[in-house]
Amino acid sequence: MIKQEIFGMTLLEMQEALLPLGMKKFRAEQIFRWLYEKSAVSFEEMTNLSKSDIALLQEHFTLLTGQIKVLRELKSTDGLTHKVLLGFTDGASVETVCMHHDYGYSVCISSQVGCSMDCAFCASGLQGQERNLTAGEILAQVYYFQRLLSIQDARVSRVVVMGSGEPMLNLDNVLKALDILHEDHGQGIGYRNMTISTCGIIPGIKKLTEMGRTINLAISLHAASDELRTSLMPINKTYNYLEVIKAADEYSEGNGRQVMYEYILLAGINDSLDDARILANVLKHKNVVVNLIPANPVPEKGFKRPSGNAVDRFFQVLKEQKINVTVRKEMGKDIDAACGQLRASTLVGGE
Ligand code: SAH
Repeated sequence: MIKQEIFGMTLLEMQEALLPLGMKKFRAEQIFRWLYEKSAVSFEEMTNLSKSDIALLQEHFTLLTGQIKVLRELKSTDGLTHKVLLGFTDGASVETVCMHHDYGYSVCISSQVGCSMDCAFCASGLQGQERNLTAGEILAQVYYFQRLLSIQDARVSRVVVMGSGEPMLNLDNVLKALDILHEDHGQGIGYRNMTISTCGIIPGIKKLTEMGRTINLAISLHAASDELRTSLMPINKTYNYLEVIKAADEYSEGNGRQVMYEYILLAGINDSLDDARILANVLKHKNVVVNLIPANPVPEKGFKRPSGNAVDRFFQVLKEQKINVTVRKEMGKDIDAACGQLRASTLVGGE
């Protein structure tokens, strides 16, 4: 008999899966709470179930949170950033990062194993196979940290889908995971405390608009002219950045959320004053915030991070044009926190 994976099921799906086993609806509710509210990683922990129910669950279901392996684990010296490479049973691995901010704990999750977008500066697509993560595997990344935080009575308060992979190419699973986190008997995390970051897959942005949730949208822009953006992000050939911005405007008009534009600063490539002016022109008068990200150098890619002065100058141009702008706070630089770097270095047998 092939066992079904229970982690990642909605309440309705659990009820349907338990029915043929003769288990009542309220049992599904109890199991849902054990998994998503109390972060249980084994059926034995479910102390309000009978021994025979636990045996039935063990016979028919797998529970992936109990099977995940921590392949690598790194903590920044300041103790604020904790990064793990999590391994699933099929050998696939993904990176997940937990950051301790003043407002609470934020977890950055991956949506795919590897990435097919081939952005010039990113380590996510460097090696290894690619596949979508299941909703359970997406959720399990949050619960890995939630279980650790529970020990100190703390909670994950923000979830950002900004790890490896392109979430809009796995949107159904991403949304299923976020919906479960949002449930009262899940973690009760508000959609406003969740962010999906995309390289600009327009059908995905449109679908998200139709869903009408108040999830924050982040667009990885990285260049505000056609030629430059195509050279950095091949996806620009399929979904031109001006069309992407239009789709993001519609998203923002639909739910009132400010769109975040991520702009990685690569020394000598997209960090000139002219680049800043072009960017300001494209985003002027919009409900947006620009997040400047001084590049994390990926040795295989050969890009450099600009000097602090260059970042400041770029920042000032946007400010003068009255554009909301922030510079990404650097966290975990000492532990390979940039996208895909830990996985890449592990797959090539790094340190
Ligand atoms: N595919 C999605 C989400 C994953 S990437 C997207 O493109 O938005 C998350 C963010 O990290 C993106 O803005 C990405 O461009 C950025 N990023 C990738 N490589 C980086 C690097 N070497 N240094 C800094 N940021 C990087």
